[in-house]
Amino acid sequence: MDFIHDVRSPRTLFAKGALSQLPAEVEALGKKRVLLISDENTNKVAGDIKKTLGKLIVDHVDHVVMHVPDDFSAPILSKAQSEGIDLVVAVGGGSSTGLGKIIALENRVDLLAIPTTYAGSEMTPIWGRTANNEKLTGRAPHVLPKVVIYDPTLTYSLPMGISVNSGMNAIAHAVEALYSPKVSPLVKQAAYEGIKVMAEGLRALAKNIDNESARERLFYGTFLCGFTLGNSTMGIHHKICHQLGGMFNLPHAPMHSAVLPYAIAYNEAAARDVLEPLATILNARTASQGIWDLSKEIGSETSLENIGFPAIESEKVADLMASYPLVNPRPFEREAVVKLLKAANSGARPDGESR
Ligand code: NAD
Repeated sequence: MDFIHDVRSPRTLFAKGALSQLPAEVEALGKKRVLLISDENTNKVAGDIKKTLGKLIVDHVDHVVMHVPDDFSAPILSKAQSEGIDLVVAVGGGSSTGLGKIIALENRVDLLAIPTTYAGSEMTPIWGRTANNEKLTGRAPHVLPKVVIYDPTLTYSLPMGISVNSGMNAIAHAVEALYSPKVSPLVKQAAYEGIKVMAEGLRALAKNIDNESARERLFYGTFLCGFTLGNSTMGIHHKICHQLGGMFNLPHAPMHSAVLPYAIAYNEAAARDVLEPLATILNARTASQGIWDLSKEIGSETSLENIGFPAIESEKVADLMASYPLVNPRPFEREAVVKLLKAANSGARPDGESR
């Protein structure tokens, strides 16, 4: 046993109808001047929030841009500053929460998150923004939301394609938490439970998009997987996705879904102690095959080619990755990474052979 237990988590409310607790939570935080953030698909619920918070809402940003480009956030930051905003309430997916985090980071205000996808950003102190076409990320304790409200009813409208890919994005966080160095055993247990719950929920949802109990389970899995991301470090899978996202602007969640089985295969021999139990949970011979089978069954993305990755660039991607530090059970091996990218491009089932 070799671990550090030093976990962080927002105050978290989870219930059908939990959104009704928002005014009490804002009052408990002692906040008086709220900036509300929503996107084109969460503007309706933002309308409900405006009614319940009334005059506390000073401003409303009703659209967001993925990965928070600086030229998009700059005027919002200065307006929030001049309006004396003391709380940001973000309702939506990782893009809404992401803008809220940048305001929390730059203006030193508190954030309350009301997630509506399975991305899990609300449970982490990780911020991300785009400057000069380059995605930058970092960790800062004060961007971790003070409060998170999970109301599963807000996810009922999430379309199937976004649901399954966003769900695989959540699973990717928990998988990499499993082999993160010195990860707390409690975080590891949350990761196994999160993956199990997400896999069950995604299979049930894929059969029936109106399955409300599957939605509830998936949101519980989102909470667990997001918690593991916030309390661990990520490995080769996230390194690759960061590189691909930056170079080719591939769609975030489908890209995670397409890369994950092959990133697991890359680590399968080096992280046998944690990936074999995962294979058992997934009822598969290997974890990489179990994740690939899940992805096929639920219809999430399994091939980078489908989302516009030019495979011819695989060697360039690997060369660029080589210059950045990597914390991963198996060290960076250029040829193996090129092979991984080509396999993720083809989308063929991982063979389950250890190297
Ligand atoms: P997103 O927030 O862009 O949402 C995807 C789409 O779903 C959008 O069109 C949105 O309008 C729609 N949508 C959201 N909720 C809906 C609902 N209930 N009904 C119908 N449509 C709805 O994407 P995402 O996958 O949630 O988040 C991706 C972003 O989050 C990326 O920028 C990623 O880097 C970031 N992220 C950050 C962290 C972190 O810890 N910092 C973790 C995960 C993801």
